[in-house]
Amino acid sequence: MTQAQIVTFSKAGGPEVMTLSEQTITAPKSGQVSIKQEAIGVNYIDIYKRSGVYPTEFPAGLGFDAAGVVTALGDGVQHLKLGERVAYAAPSQESYASYRTLNAAQVCPLPANISFEQAAAIMLKGMTTQYLFEQTTPLKEGDTVLFHAAAGGVGLIACQWAAAKGLTLIGTAGSDEKCALAMANGASHCINYSTEDFTKKVLELTHGKGVDVVMDSVGASTFEGSLNSLKPFGMMITFGNASGKVPPFDVGMLAAKGSLKLTRPTVATYVADFEMCQKMAKNLFDMVSSGKIKVNIGNRYPMANAAQAHIDLESRITTGSSILIP
Ligand code: NDP
Repeated sequence: MTQAQIVTFSKAGGPEVMTLSEQTITAPKSGQVSIKQEAIGVNYIDIYKRSGVYPTEFPAGLGFDAAGVVTALGDGVQHLKLGERVAYAAPSQESYASYRTLNAAQVCPLPANISFEQAAAIMLKGMTTQYLFEQTTPLKEGDTVLFHAAAGGVGLIACQWAAAKGLTLIGTAGSDEKCALAMANGASHCINYSTEDFTKKVLELTHGKGVDVVMDSVGASTFEGSLNSLKPFGMMITFGNASGKVPPFDVGMLAAKGSLKLTRPTVATYVADFEMCQKMAKNLFDMVSSGKIKVNIGNRYPMANAAQAHIDLESRITTGSSILIP
């Protein structure tokens, strides 16, 4: 029986609802793996879960990605070995823990050149970037993408992914310092949307044409401006709601603004299939190993101080990825 430190919460609320407790970790059943976790990712979705924006059954754990070492394997798990370094982005919500047992399908062998901290910083965020740039909509060299919150965790990976693909990424961010960081990571332009009208600026930068694709994780405050930044037939990918959920809207708006397309993807669908999940992780690790993606860890916290990590992420003072150390 392994004893683990684990962060749980039993009602939605502010960062104070999270508590650290000791739990016994179950031995892996068929198709499962147990991991001693060395570093854990903090993601904006953890805030949606904790605060109740996304519903959860209680009592609940928190967190969707981490990296560590395999300590036990259930029957039928063939792609992992005891003692192997691994990382995951998995739909089961319990990664804020020193040890855990979970389904092995989303657990991926971690190359020796990527540290546990780097892996924790990129698993959910990088798998998300992978599907946004490689799967959700076709993108070819020279296409223009508007990407909001470009200096955040997903954002800095996205800036680099776009540069590697020869795309023109127009970022937005909440300060001039964040814009400079996005540019240093490969954004072609970056608009400080707390001081400038981003739609107006996008139209200026694209000579009135608009962009091919918008990737919008900010939600309520940017949704309409994002639609107004697209070319006719453009693709709106709304994949998050840091400023609040997009309110219900009249789909006729898509026709009026130029036969636009709209999708609302989630990484959970992409990683649900074992083969696809492992392929996505390999693509992500190759991007890091080849130097195309540099991992930006902006903030490290002891797991016991997860509340501070949430406070900092919610108050928009972080850049790049935040991680917890168990
Ligand atoms: P970030 O590090 O990007 O943090 C969120 C950023 O959103 C902030 O830093 C801030 O940047 C911006 N923001 C804009 N308005 C607000 C607001 N009112 N309150 C708080 N932040 C605001 O987080 P992550 O990298 O973890 O995630 C980025 C986004 O991607 C999130 O919305 C997340 O939910 C989404 N996501 C979606 C997935 C999916 O599959 N659908 C999977 C993974 C992530 P600034 O100050 O520059 O505006």
